[in-house]
Amino acid sequence: MDMLARMHTPGADGTGGYKLLEPRQKYNMAFCTEDEIGIAEHFREFVDAELMPYRHDMEGGWHRDPKLAKQTIHRLYAKLHEFGVTKAILPEKHGGPGLSPVVRQMINEELSRADIGLATKVGKLHWAISVMVAAGRDDLLEEFAPGLIGNEAWTACFAITEPAGGANVEDPALTYKTMNTIAREDGDHYVIKGHKLWPGPAGPAENFQSEHLKGHMGYWVCAVTQPGGGEENVGIFHVPADAEGLEFSQPYEKMGFCYSEANTDIWFNDVRIPKRYRIDTKPGQGSQLIKGYVIGLGRLAGAARLTGLSEAVLETCMDWTLNRIIAGTPMRERSLFAARLAEMWRSIEISRQYYLAVTAQVTRPDQYGMPWEAQMKAKFSAARSFAGDTAQMVTNNAMQLMGSAGYAYDSHIEKYMRDYKIVQMWLGGAERDRLDMAQGLYGPFKWAGDV
Ligand SMILES: Cc1cc2nc3c(=O)[nH]c(=O)nc-3n(C[C@H](O)[C@H](O)[C@H](O)COP(=O)(O)OP(=O)(O)OC[C@H]3O[C@@H](n4cnc5c(N)ncnc54)[C@H](O)[C@@H]3O)c2cc1C
Repeated sequence: MDMLARMHTPGADGTGGYKLLEPRQKYNMAFCTEDEIGIAEHFREFVDAELMPYRHDMEGGWHRDPKLAKQTIHRLYAKLHEFGVTKAILPEKHGGPGLSPVVRQMINEELSRADIGLATKVGKLHWAISVMVAAGRDDLLEEFAPGLIGNEAWTACFAITEPAGGANVEDPALTYKTMNTIAREDGDHYVIKGHKLWPGPAGPAENFQSEHLKGHMGYWVCAVTQPGGGEENVGIFHVPADAEGLEFSQPYEKMGFCYSEANTDIWFNDVRIPKRYRIDTKPGQGSQLIKGYVIGLGRLAGAARLTGLSEAVLETCMDWTLNRIIAGTPMRERSLFAARLAEMWRSIEISRQYYLAVTAQVTRPDQYGMPWEAQMKAKFSAARSFAGDTAQMVTNNAMQLMGSAGYAYDSHIEKYMRDYKIVQMWLGGAERDRLDMAQGLYGPFKWAGDV
């Protein structure tokens, strides 16, 4: 294992780091301010000091000790909350710092260098805040603000996927026809009945109460008001974590995101919620929020996270290939290997510059369109699919260059390889990305078959 010890020297290039990967070099001043780069720098230092050393513990070590994993995830999440990243995009009028969408993505990128699962966990709160802001629901933001800005950390979850297929829910041509979670109006309440697969973090409310975590803020659930779906009938409904009628499976065992997310089935057995917990308030707004803020901006956040993950892998690989000597010369100084490292960096850099450019466009809807419009969805999909292909190439090349050392648990490369994959598949997946790009380019098309 001595050989492996050599790779735990971040920036071991003799100059104290990789200049091209520093926030001041990599974040384009065309899209952000000096102050925002300062925030990214400060956060990056926090990630290096407070999170990087615990990457194995977040999965409970090699033997997947659930107690160690839960304790570590809750502790580190609480630190992130204390640092202020969970509330980063909460508007100032609700007590948050109201940081820009670009900073949201920088947080995603820097945090994913350490753990893309933890970044996704933070992202769940950003998701919930963003749909409530977009819907103009100041009343609900006020209601949740104490949990978001208080000293104690809370988690949250979005429930979208259904047994009829995640990609079907995310397919605009299917207009939510396959969604079978029904929110029926009943006086001043909605009564929700249905079955979701995979949402996380999910489970009995007490699973999310610990020394470090105050609790679960609840589920933001995509549902339709009547069978058969339709753009006018879909909405987002907030269900408190301890609502009567919620039932969960055991958490799934899975390849990556082992404990950062507890993914379960959720059954909604006639769960009653007050009417005000429907987030969208106007006809058609639910569909706009789901297309634009849940799927669209979710894919963009995925692009930033995949970019951060790829960067961490490249850093590890550059350190390793400096210390691995072949016939008297560091491996990375031989053109065969240098070219591969250069190609890895090139894709990461393009991935970053593109997701930043699209994020900047989100802040100019007057010019580029609203996030639910087809041309913006095409760009979100281009960002996520390019970053996903990059992560696939970078993790594969890093392991190839590092040989068995890359295959070893200690290198962390195998974990990054296990983790990146789902980000390529969720929220509609790589195929939907391609279809959504094509549809942005030359307009919508319908599937020939019936649903
Ligand atoms: C770790 C993890 C965390 C997750 N977190 C959440 C969460 O928090 N909330 C949540 O709701 N879900 C979550 N999911 C579920 C995830 O979003 C879905 O699994 C994903 O959307 C794919 O859906 P599916 O598994 O039903 O696959 P399918 O929909 O069956 O897709 C399988 C393949 O077929 C293609 N395909 C199928 N139908 C179409 C179509 N209509 N158009 C184009 N391509 C199509 C897809 O691109 C894909 O390649 C999570 C999953 C994992 C593993």
